[in-house]
Amino acid sequence: MKKIGIIGWRGMVGSVLMDRMEYEKDFDLIDAYFFSTSQKGEKAPKHKSSSEVLLDANDITELEKMDIILTCQGGDYTNEIYPKLRSSGWDGYWIDAASSLRMKEDSTLVLDPVNLDVIKKAVASGKKDFIGPNCTVSLMLMAIGGLFNSGQVEWVTSMTYQAASGAGAKNMLELLDQMKVLGDLSDPAKSILEVDKSVATAMRDSNFPSKNFGAALAGALIPWIDVPVEAGQTKEEWKGVCETNKILETENMIPVDGTCVRMGAMRCHSQGLTIKMKNDIPISDIEALIKESNPWVKFVENNKEETLKYLSPTYATGTLEIPVGRVRKMNLGPEYINVFTVGDQLLWGAAEPLRRMLRILIETA
Ligand code: NAP
Repeated sequence: MKKIGIIGWRGMVGSVLMDRMEYEKDFDLIDAYFFSTSQKGEKAPKHKSSSEVLLDANDITELEKMDIILTCQGGDYTNEIYPKLRSSGWDGYWIDAASSLRMKEDSTLVLDPVNLDVIKKAVASGKKDFIGPNCTVSLMLMAIGGLFNSGQVEWVTSMTYQAASGAGAKNMLELLDQMKVLGDLSDPAKSILEVDKSVATAMRDSNFPSKNFGAALAGALIPWIDVPVEAGQTKEEWKGVCETNKILETENMIPVDGTCVRMGAMRCHSQGLTIKMKNDIPISDIEALIKESNPWVKFVENNKEETLKYLSPTYATGTLEIPVGRVRKMNLGPEYINVFTVGDQLLWGAAEPLRRMLRILIETA
């Protein structure tokens, strides 16, 4: 059995990954070794492990013994350890949740329900670095991969509604703290205008809990995610076009752009998509292409009842299903399609493509 070094297993993405690996019995197929940057020598987790204690994630000689390294530790770790490990001559497979290596020329972005052919070609040609794409990009492609694969997509704008959990555990807790402050201001004895005024005052107060977000999220939204890049985009927005085209290995770049917005969902990113098709394709054919994208798409009929029931973070949280709905032609013209989609960004957006890449390597490499 292959020796697999697992790093970052106790973080948010890592915990979800461990649950999925347990559920899918992946540990029966591997020799798992758990590493930590901070808990070396402590007891390894309950999962089937070939070492009783945690190994040092900064020890290159321990890492070199692995056939495959799967890390959800984060970009700083990758930036520091990956070059050292490769320059030591290590020739194993590196599977990573962080963005650091995504745009490196010989990295492959992994989302096998969408780009299995690209992945297989990369493995066969001896490529060794397989990186999980950005969560929002993965969820968009899971939702409308069928449209992209038809070759009919001219461009896409993606307006996102991204959950607090995308920014990490501390941010999820801060959102709840903000909600609590605002919830305590609900007072039926006061007029709604008085309540509204006290809510706005609390949100603007310098003591409002916003150390992590830098602004009120509960009762508001933040149209800025990550750092600025060129031409006025944020890095999250820039990833839309770069990663979509890299995942699909497009010959001619398909433009993807939009505004990425953080809002008060706990977990699950949502997106409102405007898709410009190359031709006027009947809406029934568009629906069929979306439904055929992959087995996880849950097509939601464009009515209020189904939309409220299924097309929401409340429904999608903790599931692998990708609800896709509000599908209709727009009055911009017959080639313009409106779509809304939701997905759990810790599952298809992070852990699941990595878990499945590990399986592909175990079974084929
Ligand atoms: P995280 O929750 O901050 O965990 C990363 C590491 O922090 C853990 O593996 C652990 O490493 C250490 N840690 C320190 N204190 C901890 C505590 N109290 N509980 C758990 N872990 C603690 O990071 P993450 O959100 O999983 O993200 C990991 C990588 O995945 C990042 O590169 C991120 O950009 C990427 N990613 C995240 C998402 C998302 O939605 N969150 C989506 C896609 C990709 P040690 O055991 O070594 O101390």
